Amino acid sequence: MLHYCVNGCLYCPYHLKNKTIPRKKLTQEEIRAEVIALQDMGHKRLAIEAGEDPVNNPIEYILDSIRTIYGIKHKNGAIRRVNVNIAATTVEEYRMLKEAEIGTYILFQETYDKKGYEELHPTGPKHNYAYHTEAMDRAMDGGIDDVGLGVLFGLEKYKYEFAGLLMHAEHLEAVHGVGPHTISVPRVKKADDIDPDMFDNGIDDETFAKIIACIRIAVPYTGMIISTRESEEVRRKALTMGISQISGGSRTSVGGYTEEERPHDTEQFDVSDSRKLDDVIEWLIDLGYIPSFCTACYRAGRTGDRFMSLCKSGQIQNCCHPNALMTLAEYMMDYASPFVKDKGLTLIDNELSGIPDEKVRNIARENIEAIKNSKGRDFRF
Ligand code: SF4
Ligand code: SF4
Repeated sequence: MLHYCVNGCLYCPYHLKNKTIPRKKLTQEEIRAEVIALQDMGHKRLAIEAGEDPVNNPIEYILDSIRTIYGIKHKNGAIRRVNVNIAATTVEEYRMLKEAEIGTYILFQETYDKKGYEELHPTGPKHNYAYHTEAMDRAMDGGIDDVGLGVLFGLEKYKYEFAGLLMHAEHLEAVHGVGPHTISVPRVKKADDIDPDMFDNGIDDETFAKIIACIRIAVPYTGMIISTRESEEVRRKALTMGISQISGGSRTSVGGYTEEERPHDTEQFDVSDSRKLDDVIEWLIDLGYIPSFCTACYRAGRTGDRFMSLCKSGQIQNCCHPNALMTLAEYMMDYASPFVKDKGLTLIDNELSGIPDEKVRNIARENIEAIKNSKGRDFRF
């Protein structure tokens, strides 16, 4: 939402000393336009990304923006889950985010190696390793029970990062009774003023795939996210290794969704998979997956330990499967191109008969008919 940042992160083009990047902050009207552009693609959830800057980005700006986003009524579109990725903050501000009904609070550790961390963050409040590392504890103390972890692979040695990530997950479970809701696996990418070769701990695709598989085995209940930083080919393989959430049609520049052309000079990092959302949906169907736009758990109050117990026992599948089909039906009716729509509706028909519980199957079938006949939206189990 804004390029302003007082930190000096060596791997990010928004660092304070980069004088070549134009700085911009979206107004509430501009945020509205961005969100409508996302809704018109078919998105139902988004993540707010913003740099750290107490003057340009106080918590009130984030809270106003969340209200703006949830308040937008535009055709059949709706952002049903706003996730937030902002700098480490106080328990009080985390409580405000909770009250604003955020979904997941996301904060990447970047690196768990303290010495490396301090060198990579030479200036600004983010330099404080302990304050950053304990952010999720404060978030949970503030009532946020869905938190998203991640390291930026390539900055430091991956074995250390992998162990650190798992220990962080274990710590959250032990202390707060809830492990990470999601784990992201970003790798350092090229951007204005940033060359990934400056960091000599880059990992090859094979090692990257193994890391994903090992995280999946070690933290089976967590959602695993891969972004458009990675290419189509890497993402395809990552899906088979345990990734459960992928982004599509993303733009990483401030205000990028309302631009005709993808702006490259102000991106936070280069996007490798630049396909449109509709292409990503078709690709997932062709690969044999069911693309889901479901946001039901958080809206039904299934968060934190409640969510974890359903997830660990596998019972959540009884909700995920029909919810995926119903939200995919919304996408197919409202946003898909005709060719993708045919494929999607066929998939939905085939999958409906595979819902084991007869009552659930019948309700899902009725709801999907209602969606097809424009008699309703936003059904969920
Ligand atoms: S990574 Fe975040 S905190 Fe660091 S310079 Fe970029 S926007 Fe600022
Ligand atoms: S029902 Fe499944 S897909 Fe939907 S929000 Fe819950 S875990 Fe995610």
